[in-house]
Amino acid sequence: MEEMKKPNHCIACTVTQCAHHADTTNYCVLDKIVVGTHEKNPTKTECVDCESFVLSAEKAKENCTGGSCAK
Ligand code: SF4
Repeated sequence: MEEMKKPNHCIACTVTQCAHHADTTNYCVLDKIVVGTHEKNPTKTECVDCESFVLSAEKAKENCTGGSCAK
């Protein structure tokens, strides 16, 4: 039987490809996350990343079709 993931209502998230996503609701299940940047001087939303992201094993089976992650 699969364990239910408990959503952390302080961390809203829509990244369903992440292993830490609550699945049935758009929240993260972690107690805390790390947010960082891949830019030297971040100026907009796209510059910022969740560094706690872990690709879901289920989603890893599917092809990533978006931008720079499609390697
Ligand atoms: S670890 Fe980050 S990307 Fe993953 S569900 Fe939590 S907030 Fe979203």
